[in-house]
Amino acid sequence: MNNLVLLEDSHFIIDMMYARSNNMVGQAVYQEIGFGNKAYVHPVVRKALLSMIPELERRKCKMRICDAYRPPLAHKKMLEIVPIKGFFAADYKRSNHCHGTAVDVCLTDLEGHNLVYPTQIDAYEEKYAKQVLAGDFSQFQQHLQKARHDYMCVPSLAIANRIILRSMMERYGFEAIPHEWWHYNIKGWANYPVVEWE
Ligand SMILES: [Zn+2]
Repeated sequence: MNNLVLLEDSHFIIDMMYARSNNMVGQAVYQEIGFGNKAYVHPVVRKALLSMIPELERRKCKMRICDAYRPPLAHKKMLEIVPIKGFFAADYKRSNHCHGTAVDVCLTDLEGHNLVYPTQIDAYEEKYAKQVLAGDFSQFQQHLQKARHDYMCVPSLAIANRIILRSMMERYGFEAIPHEWWHYNIKGWANYPVVEWE
């Protein structure tokens, strides 16, 4: 698949949210297109993630991967189900997931339970998609504030865990984006092309 590699390691829990149906579109889109629960990434992303293993072990944590490479076909299907600006990049080429250069992640304990965070991954839950499709943006917009790195009206443990995750990811070569605490792009992401998937 055009130079992408599979992330498979016991320190990482592969739990692609679009391979299960409890996500914003309410459908297991990755299964529907035959992609399944697989975390493909650009080699530079895998290298950066694997370099975190000693720190994960020190912290007695694992990392849950909730999205990695997203086939453009899946992105287009999701856009058809929720054709609302703000849920997905309107053009799949603008999603770093379709380039294999982004991951949606959080830390878990060694049993795989997520640490406490301000929202679940991701915060664009199906109930909000339904509200928004019905024309009601208010609760969704309010909820999305909690996904921001600068949102502070959540329990201090959630803030601390968000900060620990960000500091880890940045030290190992990733960049945060302001409005999704779980989403990280590899540095230099703009240099990598979209990857088609057959
Ligand atoms: Zn993401």
